[in-house]
Amino acid sequence: TRETTYNFNAGPSALPTVVLERAQAQLLDFEGNGMSIMEMSHRGKVYEAVHNAAIERMRKLYNIPEDYEVIFMQGGASLQFSMIPMNFLNEGETAGYVMSGSWSQKALKEAKMQGATYEVASSKDNQFKNIPMDWNVEDNTRYIHMTSNNTIYGTQFKDIPEVNVPLIADMSSDIMSKPVDVSKFAMIYAGAQKNLGPSGVTVVIVKKDFLETAKEENPTVLQYKTHADSNSLYHTPPTFGIYMLGEVLKWIEEQGGLEAVDRQNEMKAGLIYDVIDASEGFYYGHADKDSRSLMNITFRVADEALEKQFLAEAAEAGFVGLNGHRSVGGCRASAYNAVPVAACEALATFMKEFQAKHA
Ligand code: PMP
Repeated sequence: TRETTYNFNAGPSALPTVVLERAQAQLLDFEGNGMSIMEMSHRGKVYEAVHNAAIERMRKLYNIPEDYEVIFMQGGASLQFSMIPMNFLNEGETAGYVMSGSWSQKALKEAKMQGATYEVASSKDNQFKNIPMDWNVEDNTRYIHMTSNNTIYGTQFKDIPEVNVPLIADMSSDIMSKPVDVSKFAMIYAGAQKNLGPSGVTVVIVKKDFLETAKEENPTVLQYKTHADSNSLYHTPPTFGIYMLGEVLKWIEEQGGLEAVDRQNEMKAGLIYDVIDASEGFYYGHADKDSRSLMNITFRVADEALEKQFLAEAAEAGFVGLNGHRSVGGCRASAYNAVPVAACEALATFMKEFQAKHA
């Protein structure tokens, strides 16, 4: 049951129970309209109000300046990997990529298909255990792309180096987990399926004057301008996903906003990192301490045979999603906004008991 399951999935991942309950209550008859929000026109007044309220909540919670657009798209963060160079990278220019993990590598791979690129910094030689902070920005850089939280390796930017070229951040796995100074970025994007709602919605926050520099010879649906100019209603949006995203944002407001959520996230991740650090090497973390992610806690059980047993016993005890990404193995606990404190406490206790039994 939901009560006996601790959901540490990396994405799609846990949603607040109260949000799911409210959605369930509104599923058959949305606000007395005799039908689900999924069954209505995206051009109707009822859906439009839901759509605009979600954008407004996003603006308020993230303190998004007036000169930024908030756009809902489809195609996930992966489509953004292609669309960014497609829209912004011209002949004779180059795009800089900060390499901090697998998703940065995927983003760079797509950019290479569109134009000239280079690596601004990389922590690859250190198995992506740290956030590369020493950036080398070349002349003629059109934009710099970074991944704010590395979902697979479990590292996260704490500060952002100052640069004087447009900065674009993939925030798929830490969007709305803490306050962010949006004005530092020309663009922020994220798939919704970790901190914001179900999969199927991609959020793009983009500065208007940067958006205006985009090329216009791309297919209509692949131009940011198309979506910005039509309030994300150029074509049929993922209406149910956007409704859910709005409900998740309402829940964040009810938690006290992003400062409160950030404090909570720090506490939650701390419970698990503390067990790792006090384990005298029985467990060890993948990330360097100063680069540790509050969202994805990556660790190993030092003894490989015991690690298999750890994952098996954890699954037996109701912990879901603790296997590391298939590309790196090990263990990973994803403690996004909606993962309750109680789940992190339960995992910390389980880890201590497992060590006491087997050390
Ligand atoms: N970037 C990051 C940081 C991610 O964690 C993910 C998904 N795990 C992606 C991009 C890819 O997102 P999508 O599946 O929405 O294309």
